[in-house]
Amino acid sequence: KEKWQRLSVGCSKLDRFLRGGVGVQGITEIAGESGSGKTQLCLQMALTVQYPVTYGGLSGGAVYICTEDAFPSRRLQELFCCFPPTFSEAQTNMNFGDSIFIEHIGDVESLKQCLLVRLPQLLTQRKVKLVVVDSIAGLFRSDYDPGDAVNRAKDLQVVGGQLHKLAEQFHLAVICVNQVTNVAGKKNNETQQQPVAALGLAWANMVTTRLQLCRTAHTVPDPHQPDHTVCVRTLQVVFAPNLPSDSCHFIVTKAGVFG
Ligand code: ATP
Ligand code: MG
Repeated sequence: KEKWQRLSVGCSKLDRFLRGGVGVQGITEIAGESGSGKTQLCLQMALTVQYPVTYGGLSGGAVYICTEDAFPSRRLQELFCCFPPTFSEAQTNMNFGDSIFIEHIGDVESLKQCLLVRLPQLLTQRKVKLVVVDSIAGLFRSDYDPGDAVNRAKDLQVVGGQLHKLAEQFHLAVICVNQVTNVAGKKNNETQQQPVAALGLAWANMVTTRLQLCRTAHTVPDPHQPDHTVCVRTLQVVFAPNLPSDSCHFIVTKAGVFG
């Protein structure tokens, strides 16, 4: 039996696939191209983390660090309203928004400040069980000169190291969203462009579990609007300590991420 807890992603099929959800262990990365569903999954976990353990949560709040877009509060509200009643019943006395601490960060230096100074304070004062960095990629791709790989690697190590430390000290789930770059790879003996998580080896070495999302060309009827269709997406385990490298389908609707 594994030693660490898991946080439900708020979808029973994906939870089964991930053996209970995202591990409370090190850094879980969610990589994928724009629109693949990374933010949707993170928003959903900012809700599930607040559920009691019996519902797959961790009975705590979330810190959501936004580096690219403004925090999508309207979408969060919509997700909350659509969540299965058993989940909302468990929390009827709680205002979900009150337990989500939002940080807007514009550069690597501010991210370091946030992780090294503000977060340790907040985490001692409030019961927070999830930290999301959405995303780690933008800052690190824009803040350095092309030749400055050394400083970038150093900063990635500071950020990754501090996230590991906080995860362990406060027993929390840490999720970092990452972009992808297309790299030539071999599939069925043919060379193809394949999306690979950005930021190279310096960052990959900090990641405990790497999940990758992607949209496929297939569509299915939208369960909420049968005259509309939604695209089928895949969640792939690229590497993870306790999971086989496998993938699983899901869709995103008004009500969130579904298996
Ligand atoms: P980026 O890298 O640009 O931030 P992302 O991977 O974070 O992209 P998400 O915001 O998680 O992308 O997913 C966007 C997709 O989620 C949309 O393309 C849409 O298909 C779906 N989606 C978002 N909101 C809704 C909604 N209210 N109803 C239905 N689908 C939605
Ligand atoms: Mg996003």
